[in-house]
Amino acid sequence: QKTAYEIPKRDWSSDVCSSDLDAWAQASVPASSAEPWTLPIQYAKGVGPKRAVLLEKMGVRTVEDALWNVPWRYEDRSKLLSIGQLAPGGLATVCGTVLRARLNRIPRRHLSILDVTIGDDSGSLHAVFFNQPYLEDVFTEGTRIMVSGPVTAGRKGWTDLRMESPRYEVLDDEDAPLHVGRIVPIYHETRGLTSRQLRTLARGLLDRHLDGVADALPTAVRTRQRLLPVRVALREAHFPQAPGDLDALNQGMTPAHRRLAFEELFLLQLALALRQRSVQQEAKRLRISLEAPLAARLRAALPFKLTQAQERVLGEIQKDMASVHPMNRLIQGDVGCGKTVVALLAMATACGSGCQAALMAPTEILAEQHARTMKQWLEPLGVTVALLTSGTTPKMRTAIRKQIESGEAQMVIGTHALIQKQVKFSKLGLVVIDEQHKFGVMQRKTLQEKGYNPEVLVLTATPIPRTLAMTAYGDLDVSVIDALPPGRKPVRTRIFTNAERERAYEFLRDEVRAGHQAYVVYPLIEESEKVDLKAAVEGSERLQKYFARTAAVGLLHGRMKGEEKERTMAAFKAGEIQVLVSTTVIEVGVDVPNATVMLIEHAERFGLAQLHQLRGRVGRGAQQSSCGLLAELPPGDEGSAARRRLEALVRSNDGFVIAEEDLRLRGPGEFFGVRQWGVPEFRVANLIRDHALLETARQEAFTLVREDPRLATPDHQAARAAMLRKWEEKLSLGLVS
Ligand code: ADP
Ligand code: MG
Repeated sequence: QKTAYEIPKRDWSSDVCSSDLDAWAQASVPASSAEPWTLPIQYAKGVGPKRAVLLEKMGVRTVEDALWNVPWRYEDRSKLLSIGQLAPGGLATVCGTVLRARLNRIPRRHLSILDVTIGDDSGSLHAVFFNQPYLEDVFTEGTRIMVSGPVTAGRKGWTDLRMESPRYEVLDDEDAPLHVGRIVPIYHETRGLTSRQLRTLARGLLDRHLDGVADALPTAVRTRQRLLPVRVALREAHFPQAPGDLDALNQGMTPAHRRLAFEELFLLQLALALRQRSVQQEAKRLRISLEAPLAARLRAALPFKLTQAQERVLGEIQKDMASVHPMNRLIQGDVGCGKTVVALLAMATACGSGCQAALMAPTEILAEQHARTMKQWLEPLGVTVALLTSGTTPKMRTAIRKQIESGEAQMVIGTHALIQKQVKFSKLGLVVIDEQHKFGVMQRKTLQEKGYNPEVLVLTATPIPRTLAMTAYGDLDVSVIDALPPGRKPVRTRIFTNAERERAYEFLRDEVRAGHQAYVVYPLIEESEKVDLKAAVEGSERLQKYFARTAAVGLLHGRMKGEEKERTMAAFKAGEIQVLVSTTVIEVGVDVPNATVMLIEHAERFGLAQLHQLRGRVGRGAQQSSCGLLAELPPGDEGSAARRRLEALVRSNDGFVIAEEDLRLRGPGEFFGVRQWGVPEFRVANLIRDHALLETARQEAFTLVREDPRLATPDHQAARAAMLRKWEEKLSLGLVS
């Protein structure tokens, strides 16, 4: 069965002008009744239960998934030569007839060699296959085949040409060849499923099910953005026939790829637009008044003036608070830009109007620091501040829970402990979540549900590139604090190899002698926690010896008791400890302005973004700060990935620049472990390559939702169905009825 849509046959000798592409884009394809998205892949022809399991591992559950499982690269096996034109060296593809096939077995070496002689009008060639004796039945005399592979000279030289283990395909008169003689798609393989098998599968699915694929994009969007119909795009992505070069295919820059990427991005943005709308339509039950004097009194008590950026963001928050719909805002700003005080002023605004405000921080150390700051600034103004962490003793915990439930505690700071079931609020009006990237989306929701549709403010120092922010936080409004408080100097950073450890220590010592404080940070990951902890403990002992009696060295890690941690941190803050050896528990939030040096052990084991976060612990005052990256880099490793990452840090202090670099070097999946905080993976779209496309898709999606919030008109129903299929579960959209 021919599909309704004809693509011009690829003509290798002449150029096909690009207006053909426009013609395709304009044409529409009649719909059909089959539903590839409901058909489990197991029941597709040629699959069955065993292969279905393998396909599931690749995320392919339905026929639709399989159609979207596009090749990750392409090989040009299209240039057909006659056998007489061949010369040794290089890859070639030829067509011919099997003249004879000889199987030689060499039992002692467990070897079998099948020598197939292939001829055409111009000459002949030996195709040689090892240990595949069954191919004797494939290459029977007279069979027309196509082979593709490296050409070598045999024993008799140029007249005796060979191809060892070529890719081959038996030619049927009717079918166009699949595996050779064309631009051939290469698929990601999995154990038990080769690229060749996936190619055959794709061909079969396209032939049988493409007609049933409905176009998810509204016609207006498709026309405006000049996008191919989905069926053309899918077929072109698997078996390119349209003019275009191999590089464009391999970079995913063809009209077909653009179309598919757009659809993925568009559907996600559509889901986010709907979620945002549903949040906006909820009315809040607690009203916050901007007139209450508490916030103004706090502001007057601050030891500094807010920066312009802080003022602007605070203004945006207040506008949200004055609206009838709950705020849902992300405050993004590089480490040290002063997000805490902005959040505090928002909290004071809420408390001033008689609501409770909660602040959730990812670590105990950070929660304690916030509680200390708040108590210092707000208790004099008559506000009751409560702290609830996993380190809180059971007796205290019960008492604090009571305070929270009765409403006596007006500001509540905590860690994960805050989202436990037993914690009930009396009038929770504002939720602030610090360092959002450390929390999952679910946790954000749980805390949100504790209030009466409270205002939600999310703080992150994670310099998420705009494209990622649009996907991860696509339903939040974003404010950016884009300037540091006055007088800050960029942190000087340098790399030390392990051989330069002495120099690194001297550098530390000089700073401490000058009256400053220092952090020495060790990596700690769960898998190797014991070894990592030991390294940190030994590191602190070594430094104790090194500094002898000239400086006090402290140790801080996650395994210490809550009180002990607090005591150590307080001593460091008070300047009684000069050198704090720590694991990554100090990664986020910790604020000790007199600390001006940081030495990071095993810097090669950290992600770039994490290093930037860590480094953000210094450079918080007016003094020049420095950061040493001690790394195990093999000599002569110039240009290695590890060194390139570290050099990016030396070059820049700008979190956004570093994040973009990180994204480029590691790919979006690896970035900050984004998977866990919900950046989806795409099959075709690539957040780096397609950032412009993402912006367009977002605009189109948000416009569509504004015009047709229920996606009810006939031309929008396919989009709605496709969006729900993909995102309903993941984004818990119970909202489109
Ligand atoms: P982050 O945005 O990384 O959470 P913090 O809120 O911890 O940063 O602020 C970093 C430091 O800057 C703190 O010591 C804070 O008191 C100080 N700070 C914040 N705003 C200002 C300002 N406008 N002027 C001077 N110092 C400020
Ligand atoms: Mg902070």
